[in-house]
Amino acid sequence: MPFELSTIPCLSDNYAYLIHDAKTGATALVDAPEAGPILDVLAEKGWTLSDVLITHHHYDHVDGLAEILAAHPARVIGAAADAHRLPPLDLALNDGDTVQIGSETGSVIDVSGHTIHHVAYHFPASKLVFTADSLMALGCGRVFEGTKPQMWDSLQKLVALPGDTTVCSGHEYTAANAKFALTIDPDNPDLISRVRDVTDKRASGLPTVPSLLSEELATNPFLRAHDPAIQAHLGMTGANATDVFTEIRTRKDNF
Ligand code: ZN
Ligand code: FE
Repeated sequence: MPFELSTIPCLSDNYAYLIHDAKTGATALVDAPEAGPILDVLAEKGWTLSDVLITHHHYDHVDGLAEILAAHPARVIGAAADAHRLPPLDLALNDGDTVQIGSETGSVIDVSGHTIHHVAYHFPASKLVFTADSLMALGCGRVFEGTKPQMWDSLQKLVALPGDTTVCSGHEYTAANAKFALTIDPDNPDLISRVRDVTDKRASGLPTVPSLLSEELATNPFLRAHDPAIQAHLGMTGANATDVFTEIRTRKDNF
C-alpha cells in the first residue's frame, strides 16, 4: 500500500509534507518550515512522527525542526556533505544511498544547484519525489550556490524518473512561474491549459502542488530546453540544452 501523503502549507508560501505508512505506522516529515501547522496535522491524523527528511539547510526548510522534535522525537535525516550546516543529523546520507521509511525504501538524489548538496528523496513504490527548491511546479529553484549547468544536470536526474511520479516541491510559486513560462513557451497548448487551472486553483485558495512529472515535462520551461519551439522563440535554434536552460534561468532571474 502506498504512503498516505499530506501536503501542509507553512509560512507564507512553503510546503511541508507528511508521508504515512499504514502498514507499520511510520510517518516521515519532509522539511520543517514551522512547527505549528505540522504538529496540527500530526494531531488530527493521530500520527506519531518517526523520521524527518531534510532537503537543504535554508531556514524556511528547517526552522520548525527543534519544536517538532520536542513533541515527536524522530530520526533526522539529511545530506552528509551538508551536515555542518544542517540541524544535527541521526542519519547522514550521500547521493544514491537508500533510506527506509516504514516498509518502503527511498533513494537520495543529489540535486545541487539552488544550494550545493540540496537533495531530493524518491520513493518509487509510492511514486513520490520530494524536490523542495530544485524542480518546482512550472519552475525550478533560483541558483544560489551552484551553477546553472549544474542545476540543469540535477534536473536531468529527476526527469529520468517515471512520468507518473508525483512531484512534491517546496513552495507555492506556481502562479508567478506560470506568468514567466508563458513568456518562454507562449504557444504550448498544455501550458496554456495548465495556467488556466493554476489560476482557478489559486483563486479558490487551493495548492497547486504536488504535480505530476509528466505534466512538468509537458509544460515546465526549465525542463524543455530541448524543445524546438522554445529554442526558436529564444533565437537559439540548435543550441545545446544546457545553454538554453541557462538562458531561461537567467531570464527568470530578471523577470
Ligand atoms: Zn531554499
Ligand atoms: Fe525554500
